[in-house]
Amino acid sequence: MVEILHPTELARAKDTGVLVADILQTLKSRSTVGTNLLDIDRWTETMIVEAGALSCYVDYEPSFGRGPFGHYICTAVNDAVLHGMPHDYTLADGDLLTLDLAVSKGGVAADSAISFIVGTSKPPESVAMISATERALSAGIAAAGPGARIGDISHAIGAVLSEAGYPINTEFGGHGIGSTMHQDPHVSNTGRPGRGYKLRPGLLLALEPWVMADTAELVTDADGWTLRSATGCRTAHSEHTIAITNDGAEILTLPKQAQP
Ligand code: MG
Ligand code: MG
Repeated sequence: MVEILHPTELARAKDTGVLVADILQTLKSRSTVGTNLLDIDRWTETMIVEAGALSCYVDYEPSFGRGPFGHYICTAVNDAVLHGMPHDYTLADGDLLTLDLAVSKGGVAADSAISFIVGTSKPPESVAMISATERALSAGIAAAGPGARIGDISHAIGAVLSEAGYPINTEFGGHGIGSTMHQDPHVSNTGRPGRGYKLRPGLLLALEPWVMADTAELVTDADGWTLRSATGCRTAHSEHTIAITNDGAEILTLPKQAQP
């Protein structure tokens, strides 16, 4: 089912979006050499509770996961890319870390992910991969607006990722979002322009280009959740929640200080 938000709900969606973005920026600043993934999870829980919000993850139990997730954030390091379950791991210099967070507040959910390199070393391949997902996300957002179709967004994202030389996995992509975290329509990270659901003002979408350096194949960890690249190569992921408005697309998951 596709959910279209009323203008009054859009204001609440913005509040949730800023909260998600602010938590991610705080976590990024605290994720340094020596930080444990379980600390990141604990800090996330505290910030969600203090904001009077609800975790979309802790009780999440989809068909592809093993039991409730039981954690408050996804932490994916290096070859891990999606649904990274926080575990007892201490971050090292040069680790490529993805933090993916969805929370609900005032009845509206928002979902965002950032990838960055921990410490001072900046492996060029990791920098390039993160940049490609960020540019693909920007292209997808630029292609979203009333009257455009989901295929236009998918095509714009896929064009950037392909041009950068990355294979594209079509099992997991973006999605509608609103009163719950995952809704229709699905937003593949590659597609044909002019196809698919026609965007309408009030629709919220989470766009999330992600790539693996040299494969499109995923393998699942023994934890039943964490998805890694089949070849062990590095991965990156960038996600924003956007609202379709009469004027185009508005990014909801920008930190407070980045608000226009
Ligand atoms: Mg996400
Ligand atoms: Mg998402």
